[in-house]
Amino acid sequence: MPQAPLDRPIAPPVGSPFDWIDSEARRRADAGLVRTLRPRPAVPDLLDLASNDYLGLTHHPDITAAAADAARRWGAGATGSRLVTGTTELHTELERELAAFCGFEAALVFSSGYAANLAALTALSARGSLIVSDAGNHASIVDGCRLSRAETAVVPHADPDAVDKTLGAHPGRRALAVTDSVFSVDGDAAPLAGLAAACRAHGAALVVDDAHGLGVLGEGGRGALHAAGLAGDPDVVATLTLSKSLGSQGGAVLGPARVIDHLVNAARTFIFDTGLAPAAAGAALASLRLLRGEPALAGRARAVAATLHARLTGAGLSAVRPDAAVVSVRAPSPEQAVRWAADCRAGGLAVGCFRPPSVPDGISRLRLTARADLSERQVDEAVATILRTAPVPVSRSAPGSRPPS
Ligand code: PMP
Repeated sequence: MPQAPLDRPIAPPVGSPFDWIDSEARRRADAGLVRTLRPRPAVPDLLDLASNDYLGLTHHPDITAAAADAARRWGAGATGSRLVTGTTELHTELERELAAFCGFEAALVFSSGYAANLAALTALSARGSLIVSDAGNHASIVDGCRLSRAETAVVPHADPDAVDKTLGAHPGRRALAVTDSVFSVDGDAAPLAGLAAACRAHGAALVVDDAHGLGVLGEGGRGALHAAGLAGDPDVVATLTLSKSLGSQGGAVLGPARVIDHLVNAARTFIFDTGLAPAAAGAALASLRLLRGEPALAGRARAVAATLHARLTGAGLSAVRPDAAVVSVRAPSPEQAVRWAADCRAGGLAVGCFRPPSVPDGISRLRLTARADLSERQVDEAVATILRTAPVPVSRSAPGSRPPS
């Protein structure tokens, strides 16, 4: 039988043009991978180890008051893009204070961390340049690489030698390496010193997404780059989100002034996006000032993470040693991960549940976030619930069930 030539368009489907969605949905359901939205109640009904509110600032009265004040003064929306009407004093103050706090020359605020990553990667690379990207990088980095049109080499996770070799294989090419500072799935930290050395050896820039490091790592929460002695390095750029430790919404890029000036002129997610809402800028600024005044907060989040990890692994669970506030606990299968998270929920505990395709290695996990404001009793309660509902054999007595002294 003659075959249709391959370049002939596929015949339009009979019926709705969206019928294919039903078969995709069925395949997803068969694999146990359907996602559903669940509105969060205003007053928390569960102990929350699922959010990214690492310092517990989202509901802090000073932060919500700052958001309300900013909205009253500057309006509910930014009214336009940053280059037209969307820049207020709050935005410029936030940029000045963020840069100073984290130790960089300049900063630029975006409407999300996602937009900040797209901006940094697309404006600092181009067709013909090279991006070396860690295999575990966040989706917004992956999308930034795609949008940049640069050649992207994905290298094995947390491997400075692989970055060095890849950069070395492209001498004379404009290049940057990009990594999360703390990986959002497993909570492990990137080997920043080794990555910076590899970049330096080949004249490449280093872009670090410090979404999970700001407020948790470094002196007083100044971030992973500050901790690694790389803040303010002329060849290093940081991207941030304002939506985790700072309890607000939005993102930022930090770096040398000439890089930031370039983004203002070249980054499409800056130029064509409506500016960050004043309430979000005001809340982030208030959180930053609060963090400056309470430098112990960051260490508290790390200590809660270390306690959770020690007690869960002590009881026999498999979990990655946390470098920041994320604790990742392995589940035997995606179905058991979903059931485990649901059983935790039924027991009054909200936890995150990561499974394919969010995890490229196919390993499903519960993802716990350690908040600085969790009491010892809440940590006890969380550990007890996770152990009680675990789908694998655990020891419910010492050493898992008591906090380490
Ligand atoms: N980078 C990382 C590592 C993240 O975890 C996130 C948020 N999940 C983002 C970027 C995106 O930030 P935002 O939510 O502010 O868009």
